[in-house]
Amino acid sequence: MNILVINCGSSSLKFQLIDAVTEQLIAKGLCERIGIDGSQLVYQPAGKEKMKTVTPMEDHTQAIKLVLDALTDKENGVVKELSEIGAVGHRIVHGGEKFAASTLITEEVIAAITECNELAPLHNPANLIGIAACKELMPETPMVAVFDTAFHQTMPQEAYLYGIPYEYYKEYKVRRYGFHGTSHSYVSKKAAEVLGQNYEDLKLIVCHLGNGASVSAVEHGKCVDTSMGLTPLEGLIMGTRSGDIDPAIIEFLAHKENKSIDEIMTILNKKSGVLGLSDNFSSDFRDLEDAYLAGQEASVRTMEAFAYRVAKYIGAYVAAMNGVDGICFTAGLGENSPLIRNLVCKRLGYLGITIDDEQNNKRGKDLVVSTMDSKTKVLVIPTNEELAIARETYAIIK
Ligand code: AMP
Repeated sequence: MNILVINCGSSSLKFQLIDAVTEQLIAKGLCERIGIDGSQLVYQPAGKEKMKTVTPMEDHTQAIKLVLDALTDKENGVVKELSEIGAVGHRIVHGGEKFAASTLITEEVIAAITECNELAPLHNPANLIGIAACKELMPETPMVAVFDTAFHQTMPQEAYLYGIPYEYYKEYKVRRYGFHGTSHSYVSKKAAEVLGQNYEDLKLIVCHLGNGASVSAVEHGKCVDTSMGLTPLEGLIMGTRSGDIDPAIIEFLAHKENKSIDEIMTILNKKSGVLGLSDNFSSDFRDLEDAYLAGQEASVRTMEAFAYRVAKYIGAYVAAMNGVDGICFTAGLGENSPLIRNLVCKRLGYLGITIDDEQNNKRGKDLVVSTMDSKTKVLVIPTNEELAIARETYAIIK
């Protein structure tokens, strides 16, 4: 069965068509600038060149229509007709406390996702538009919602409650939710496979280090803590997001800079992180790494602060699980940067970690990068959120 995986943003839409049985990618692509001048579709059947079409897309329904046309196109399409798409899996950012697992999309589910909109005002409404557009164009095709927050719903109360009046949790559900759950789940399961051990027997820490970045503690197959919170702003220093700060900084800066809370929040989301810390040098770790290696001061302080924060979270999660068997690196930076893995792991000598430099310099596949006698294993596991969404969708449809 072919599964169409849809990841809908406010003005973009990423898609992959995956054969759920062989788990092979059939085609993938991206619609950009939906509702904005200069919208374009990038479409790539597996093993072929990318094709770009600049064409107006007024809304997400039009964008999805173009995607479906491309997939069924006589010349470059990959299926003859839409009925060859057995199901659609939608990435949904926030499922609140309502969803601890993926679920078949019904009217009730749509209403429940809508209730979570205020927890993710930038993301959930866009995800819902994607669902509505697919429903309009493929009314008979079953759809499944796969939540970024679901994997973290197993966290115990002591990990998800904040030290603020309890009534805010009861009244507004202000608590830690965590994100990147599909990735943390996929990577931790895969790590158990690579180590040849039972998932349920292991204590694992997953470091998802990309433009957005988060760490999670996965004990015996269940998430017990994670670094992102009510929103994806908490935790690690990220590309442009600050991660943890003293909340009093918000008021302090609002006074000093004569800015509103909204303006300060924009700074914390869009102008902070490694971009801000490097004095606007770059939010891209490739630039920072090159400059770090050349000894540029701004990049040295930024990379060290980034790695320090990752190592600090790892230490916290070793404490949370009373031990650790494996530490996994994933996502753009975690998968591709031997340097960042070294900068983090050099702070973890107390865990008996030694890195095998030859392994650490390899790219692009599941790897154990610690030495054979390293007490705690260190792994690189390329994440594949689309495949994980296709698997979840297939499991529910079956
Ligand atoms: P993601 O959000 O997972 O797509 O990751 C994006 C981040 O990964 C960006 O900051 C990139 O600079 C970083 N990245 C991608 N490839 C590399 C690489 N080869 N070396 C260092 N960082 C990389």
